[in-house]
Amino acid sequence: MIWNKARECMSRDELAVLQGKRLVELVDYMYHNVKYYKRKMRNLGLEPGDIRGIEDLEKLPFTTREDLTEAYLLGGFTLSDKKIVQYHASDHSAGYAGMETITGYTQNDIDVWKECMARSISMAGLGERDVIQVAYSYGLSADGLSAYYGAEKIGAAVIPATDCKPAALIALMRRLHVTGVISTSSHLMRVAQMVEKKGLKNSLWLKAAICGGEAWTETSRKEIQGKLGIKVYDIFGLNELTGLGVACECECQEGMHIQEDFFLAEILNTHTLLILPGGVRGELVFTTLQKEGIPLIRYRTTGYTKINYAKCECGRTMARMDRICYGIDDMIQIRGNSVSVSQVEAALSELQDLEAFYIICIRKEHQLDVVDVYMESAGMNGVLVSENRAEVKRRVADAVYHIIGVEPDVYCAESERRKDFERIFRGMDMGKRVTVVDERRT
Ligand SMILES: [Zn+2]
Repeated sequence: MIWNKARECMSRDELAVLQGKRLVELVDYMYHNVKYYKRKMRNLGLEPGDIRGIEDLEKLPFTTREDLTEAYLLGGFTLSDKKIVQYHASDHSAGYAGMETITGYTQNDIDVWKECMARSISMAGLGERDVIQVAYSYGLSADGLSAYYGAEKIGAAVIPATDCKPAALIALMRRLHVTGVISTSSHLMRVAQMVEKKGLKNSLWLKAAICGGEAWTETSRKEIQGKLGIKVYDIFGLNELTGLGVACECECQEGMHIQEDFFLAEILNTHTLLILPGGVRGELVFTTLQKEGIPLIRYRTTGYTKINYAKCECGRTMARMDRICYGIDDMIQIRGNSVSVSQVEAALSELQDLEAFYIICIRKEHQLDVVDVYMESAGMNGVLVSENRAEVKRRVADAVYHIIGVEPDVYCAESERRKDFERIFRGMDMGKRVTVVDERRT
């Protein structure tokens, strides 16, 4: 079902006109109300009248997470006449220099947010007759509320199942005939594993699930889908823009439709700072076309993805983005293929019963790229010396192979190739669960 056909299926020409009109208004508003941004524009010799439509987007200065922090410290981002009714903050780990990135929403912002989530939940085939379980935490992050707002807006019955353990979620699913779940993928994976273990798949009424808010992989999506017998849809959001619902997958599951009437997306070449065409990977940059509480122009997300502007088979014309990967050095080349380090990290982090640290070493052997994986954990040693050792290694190798397409050799660093491990490990920060070392560069 398409929630807002007039918008979601509008022609790309009409969309460009609408985006251009909103961009011109936004630039004018920012110039006259946000001193910090006015200064940035003046430094480039720009006046609001220089921006006449989206074709002028490239002239505008960027906004970075560092800008937001500095702006807060200096009191630069003051809002003239818009009342903030809700605040959110991103996690410490995602913040800049130990500061959370705080953002605020006006009532209009929340209405836009609800609209985006209503569109997203409809893309997953859920509607007013459905019973939707929201299994996110309602914390500083906006994810839990996003899901709640959307389910409420489409008129579904909502179960705010915050902080419920898998067993409790499954019990509720059965008693209340839950048809849709919105959750992080790792939480839903635990639910799916329990459903499979107890043979409950056929006693559930589930039709679809929507997952977002953390990195996950295609492998885990397929696994969850198989165990629950449903489709699982990917969703994207960013606190600084709005909660979840900035983009979501439709039934085709070929990229997430961006709500482009509210969020103008571009893909940036981080070296030339020029906008890249569709289908080419680069940094994702967003302009909030309607946001009143701390609007953002050309906000650099530091995430990498690509955008497909072709019309989707579902009928929607809104462009689709791939999963986003974070990190400047995220993409590495292995045997001619681009591989995302974040995806490898996500795949290994999903092996939650293996409490291990991993170093993935890429090196050349006879002119060919080869991959070694070293696992280390005192707690793992017992597992690895038992008869499970081969099985554990196989699971790690499979997880890595699925992402990079090269079969790695996996070593238990406590007892195998210790010297190699110590050489690679030297001076390395082992606070990260997964570290990728590219020895071809040294
Ligand atoms: Zn579609």
